[in-house]
Amino acid sequence: MTETFAEIREAVRKLCAGFPGAYWRAKDRDRAYPHEFVATLTEAGFLSVLIPEAFGGSGLGLGAATAVLEEIHRSGCNGGACHAQMYTMGTLLKHGSPAQKADYLPKIAAGDLRLQAFGVTEPGAGTDTTRITTFARRDGDHYVVRGQKIWISRAEHSDLMVLLCRTTPRDATAKPSDGMSVLLVDLRESVGKGLTIRPVRTMLNHATTELFFDDLRVPVANLIGTRARAFATSSTA
Ligand SMILES: Cc1cc2nc3c(=O)[nH]c(=O)nc-3n(C[C@H](O)[C@H](O)[C@H](O)COP(=O)(O)OP(=O)(O)OC[C@H]3O[C@@H](n4cnc5c(N)ncnc54)[C@H](O)[C@@H]3O)c2cc1C
Repeated sequence: MTETFAEIREAVRKLCAGFPGAYWRAKDRDRAYPHEFVATLTEAGFLSVLIPEAFGGSGLGLGAATAVLEEIHRSGCNGGACHAQMYTMGTLLKHGSPAQKADYLPKIAAGDLRLQAFGVTEPGAGTDTTRITTFARRDGDHYVVRGQKIWISRAEHSDLMVLLCRTTPRDATAKPSDGMSVLLVDLRESVGKGLTIRPVRTMLNHATTELFFDDLRVPVANLIGTRARAFATSSTA
């Protein structure tokens, strides 16, 4: 029989009842991030259903994660405020090193760290991701990142960001999808030190931004998966 996650749905509905339409309309009017809603869901453990129990999550998997988001939207709330905590998680879960998982996952599950930003799109690279040009140059034990991203949502409200960048130029690779790498950027340490975040005003209140990288230094230890094999890393996320 197909699992319907009835208990999870019921619990999510109860939480969402505390965030009626008036709450969302006020957030929309003020262009504000729904901190209270995100904190409530995090504390109840619903944003860590994909994180294995060994790292402090419930490890319930993709079906449960889908039920959580479906019920949020069915209740009139906005899962877009936090859904990236689930869909970016696969990159770290499947391709993170044991040290990265041990370091980040328990803190994310506990709500001490937010991983809600995913930096892929660029002014010249939308649907065709292989066109990205934001470049991470190796310099000792750091990567030095230069470039620009656009439509990167929740960057102002997240502690960490999964960043897709080139480590080999597109025209120097055998296949366009080669030569890209994934870095885990600690936004708290980066803003003002090579990273500038500018909000983009949109019709819907989606906390989206543009990012400017001006020699941002990211430790090599923050590379997720294999250098230049990011397409395999993030596309199976
Ligand atoms: C509110 C908002 C939030 C976003 N948040 C994020 C985020 O957090 N992180 C992030 O990385 N990105 C984010 N994005 C970016 C989003 O994922 C991109 O808009 C998307 O990748 C499409 O890129 P584009 O807008 O440049 O469209 P384009 O790539 O220019 O495509 C335009 C249209 O042409 C179609 N098209 C393109 N190529 C082909 C083809 N070969 N054949 C047929 N049709 C084609 C597309 O389907 C689309 O309908 C966000 C966007 C918005 C609007």
